[in-house]
Amino acid sequence: MSRNILIIGAGIAGLALARAFERRGIAFDIIDRAPAPLTGGAGMFLPGNAMVALRGLGFGEQVADIAWHNRRQTILDAGGGVLHDMDVERFWENAGPCLSLTRAALTGILRSGVETQVRYGVWTNGITVEGNKARVAFSDGEEAVHDLVIGADGFNSATRGQLFGDQAPEIYPRTCWRMLTPNSIGLRHWTVMLGHRRALLGVPVEDGLLYLYGDADNVLLPAHLTNHRRDLQDLFGAFAGPLAPVVEAIGPDDRIDRGILGEVAARDWSNDAALLIGDAAHACSPSMAQGASMAFEDALVLTDCLADAQDLRAALAAFSRQRLERVRWIQKQCRARDSTRALPRPLRIAILRLLGDRLYRRSYTPLLAPFRGGGADRVDQRA
Ligand SMILES: Cc1cc2nc3c(=O)[nH]c(=O)nc-3n(C[C@H](O)[C@H](O)[C@H](O)COP(=O)(O)OP(=O)(O)OC[C@H]3O[C@@H](n4cnc5c(N)ncnc54)[C@H](O)[C@@H]3O)c2cc1C
Repeated sequence: MSRNILIIGAGIAGLALARAFERRGIAFDIIDRAPAPLTGGAGMFLPGNAMVALRGLGFGEQVADIAWHNRRQTILDAGGGVLHDMDVERFWENAGPCLSLTRAALTGILRSGVETQVRYGVWTNGITVEGNKARVAFSDGEEAVHDLVIGADGFNSATRGQLFGDQAPEIYPRTCWRMLTPNSIGLRHWTVMLGHRRALLGVPVEDGLLYLYGDADNVLLPAHLTNHRRDLQDLFGAFAGPLAPVVEAIGPDDRIDRGILGEVAARDWSNDAALLIGDAAHACSPSMAQGASMAFEDALVLTDCLADAQDLRAALAAFSRQRLERVRWIQKQCRARDSTRALPRPLRIAILRLLGDRLYRRSYTPLLAPFRGGGADRVDQRA
């Protein structure tokens, strides 16, 4: 059934949806507020379940070919002592490898797999749902009526506000920094170092290149943050190897992105002619690295729900029914993980040493279960 569909946002969720729609012959328009494709954002880690969805989008081999394959995930304390070391290759063997790559490389692959032209530099000034249609006022003065508007415009989604009223996300009292830097220490896999209310993560993203991520609770920070490099060195300078030398080696002209973290409480974000996907619908802390996977899965499940549906409202309700449990589980697990940041050091160390394996399995095992969509509903499906 042919519908007049608008996707708002050409980030990870919007591009994945565009790709899934094209593969099923569903036509759409797509806009993005940014004047040109975004290139920042440093690196991405994609646990094994991402590969199931990437295969469903037809990107499995392409991403696996250029990404770094992480066989283990290691948690160290600030002094470099091992708290937990997990054979993630084994855990995810029926799904796929745990990959890491630059965000630019991932979005570049997504973009190259979409034929429909993204209209960059365009956003919506207002969306009104009238009966079962959405009337959209665009920033360039145009107006159009759509059968379906899909908000994929991220954490600070304006679409969420225009459709569902004032729905500001919860902002965590935490700050993060991200950068790409030479892998001068020859790190081979995802490695995090934990201090009190702060964490420093290194992930190889390609030969010779490391994705460095640091975060700290705001209570640790001075009132005015100015120099990202100095802030990182103040926070992590007293850490040991392997990651401290990387922080020390940051140069004055290196690009570092500073950001906030927060959460959009997952719920049924749909009405008679619109819905939200990706971070606009269920952003959360990156502590399980599930944001991209959930965006891919949203795209596949929504495409499945819409492909042959006669009744649009029923299709949108079916999408929410299929997604809510999974994204709520991730949000709950992220909150539980993040709550250990402020525990007294001996308790945190004991928990990770004694229960690290069990906690990892508990958080991620439900994600080995099939999600429905794009034919990617078997975890052992190959590209
Ligand atoms: C610090 C940090 C680290 C992370 N690390 C990981 C990780 O390692 N692995 C992982 O899987 N996930 C990670 N995530 C989460 C992941 O980045 C997000 O889940 C993912 O980017 C969501 O994709 P999205 O398309 O919904 O939103 P976005 O990627 O934010 O894309 C939104 C798009 O909408 C556009 N837009 C915004 N407003 C408008 C508007 N009004 N009109 C039109 N267009 C608009 C933007 O320009 C952008 O292109 C991390 C997040 C953070 C904050």
